[in-house]
Amino acid sequence: MGSLKNWLWGALLVLGLLAAAYAFGADAASTPSTPNTPIARDFPPGLIIPDAARPGPHFDVDKATQAYLDLLSPAQRKLSDDYFEGGYWLQLWDFLIGAGIGVLLLVSGISVRMRELAQAISRRSWLSTAIYVLLWLLLVYLINLPWSWYESYVREHQYGLSTQSPAAWFGDGFKDLMVDAILAPPIIAMLYAWVRRLGVRWWVAASLGGFVLSLLLGMLAPVYFAPLFNDYKPLPNGPVREAVLSLARANRIPTDHVEWFDASRQTTRVSANVSGFLNTTRVNLNDNLVNKTSLPEIRAVLGHEMGHYVLNHALRLTIYFSLLLTLGFYFTHRILDWSLARWGGRLQLEGRDDPAALPLVALILSGFFFLMTPVSNSITRQAEAEADAFGLNAAREPNGFAMAAMRLSTYRKLQPGPWEEVIFYDHPSGYTRVHNSMIWLGENQDNPTANAPIAPPMQPLKFDSKLNGSGSRH
Ligand SMILES: [Zn+2]
Repeated sequence: MGSLKNWLWGALLVLGLLAAAYAFGADAASTPSTPNTPIARDFPPGLIIPDAARPGPHFDVDKATQAYLDLLSPAQRKLSDDYFEGGYWLQLWDFLIGAGIGVLLLVSGISVRMRELAQAISRRSWLSTAIYVLLWLLLVYLINLPWSWYESYVREHQYGLSTQSPAAWFGDGFKDLMVDAILAPPIIAMLYAWVRRLGVRWWVAASLGGFVLSLLLGMLAPVYFAPLFNDYKPLPNGPVREAVLSLARANRIPTDHVEWFDASRQTTRVSANVSGFLNTTRVNLNDNLVNKTSLPEIRAVLGHEMGHYVLNHALRLTIYFSLLLTLGFYFTHRILDWSLARWGGRLQLEGRDDPAALPLVALILSGFFFLMTPVSNSITRQAEAEADAFGLNAAREPNGFAMAAMRLSTYRKLQPGPWEEVIFYDHPSGYTRVHNSMIWLGENQDNPTANAPIAPPMQPLKFDSKLNGSGSRH
């Protein structure tokens, strides 16, 4: 039995490595071969309204939708499909590689040696557990580094989505690691204290703790962690700030705090969010959204983001995901005890309260969430669909929202099959969003924005640390 077990572990590890090699090869083969040709992926700044999407007696939802979809050239659409479908496989490789690393640490005895080292440094169980967690984080970071380099640096550059230098990429990764190294050891040490105290009921306390911790981190992260990675400045006075404030007042968002941040130092993607709590509530726009789109699109996107706030999605999603986590902890508890009874002796693991078994815990929990991908995506996608509907009604910019959806579709597959959308999409697809926008427009043909002439693209704003709330456009 022992040799069979080793064989199985080895096979899993080899499978993970083969998967990584395959993913690497497949992606390298499917990306454009001329490295110096810029990828025609982005749309130029400014709103586009196809003739078929203009109100009138012959307005047809499907024709208007198709006219928007046709803005994407076949080459752009193929690039977007390749990027997004490749992402399905990345999720599998992420899991397999993570599992392979866990198996490696367990079978090689490295995990047991790290526990012994931690115990040699301190006999206090909470402190030695925290030291073990720190060693484990650092080691996993190092072993996983080549894969994460490929996944979030090489591949993102191949598709023209990253603007980072290698040094900037390493810098952000290091900051991430530091945040983890400060937060994870005390949190996981506390978890192990509960395991020691509560025995088979540990997963109940862990689930409640997970809920409280998610709430806290959800409130603190935008205020304390996000500024580690980007500069946040007040958005200068002008039409964009006015439009955002007007939308905020109309929807009773209790803030006049409108900021923008230099996401262009990492990515070409557009985004925004409404975050914070009590007096830290704020509206954040990324500089790509401000400078690479148009006012109707910005209003449409902010209408969506304000929907998340007004509909209280942060709390609701925290509750949903905490319920999922509870199921995950229970699953982990059962599988962990079963695995320890079977292999614990050979792996020199001393029980469920042994921190050396942490890679096994992580493997089981990540397996659970991997299997639950369609569930977690659907929870998120449902909230996103609600925010879409809210945003259309709040901003009344169906063309702006359709155009923004098309911009997102330059890296998110435009028109998936129904099951593909359920399993892999955490946002409605571009097709769904354009179609919904055109349905809204069809029912609101007297809407002034739909009949307005298209304004010329705005002058870009310069993201300058000296600018403040009273700054001006350059
Ligand atoms: Zn959203």
